[in-house]
Amino acid sequence: MRVLVIEDEAPLRQQLVDALRSAGWVVDEAPDGEEGLWMGEEYPVDVVVLDLGLPKLRGLEVLRRWRSAGRAFPVLILTARGRWQEKVEGLEAGADDYLVKPFHMEEVQARLRALVRRAAGWSDAVLAGGPIRLHPASQQVTVEGEEVALTAYEYRLLEYLMTRAGEVISKSELSEHVYEEEMERDSNVLEVLLGRLRRKLDPDRSLNPIETLRGRGYRFRLERGVG
Ligand code: CA
Repeated sequence: MRVLVIEDEAPLRQQLVDALRSAGWVVDEAPDGEEGLWMGEEYPVDVVVLDLGLPKLRGLEVLRRWRSAGRAFPVLILTARGRWQEKVEGLEAGADDYLVKPFHMEEVQARLRALVRRAAGWSDAVLAGGPIRLHPASQQVTVEGEEVALTAYEYRLLEYLMTRAGEVISKSELSEHVYEEEMERDSNVLEVLLGRLRRKLDPDRSLNPIETLRGRGYRFRLERGVG
């Protein structure tokens, strides 16, 4: 999952970026409203952390411009303590949730996961497809109740495909949401990873949870929530 962090206070921005990266997010960061606005328009963003008090362009203005241009990704706004009006303005400008500073990194992560999940139409915190269960909070995956050990990248691939279960995801889209570096995306690493993931989830090839649609991409094909 790819998150855009827009925050002008460098130490806080770094803290957010570090915490999110170590939790497996692909992170883009911007120190002001202008750069943040541009990144939100150009980057394949799944969710945004947006500080409202930003230089160059206010957070509220960034949010309004995205929404009027049809950018629908979920946005979590950060507001200063005691500025309740900001929360109201932010929510009315199209924010999906807010956090008041200071906050705990765990809370940011839990809220971001919830936003991504809801935006993709999941109501439960655990993603289920056939006998496969994915627990985003613990990054744990089980098949018929048995835990399957995945590497960080295998997990990211499965999380993205399951979150968007039923949709065809192109190879480039999948890469953009799983890899930080463009360089890595050009290689065949993705196909190798997918092969390993399929073998781990479905060693006897009875389930075929991830199908390849030639020339179009991949799809997690097991029905949501049916065990
Ligand atoms: Ca600020």
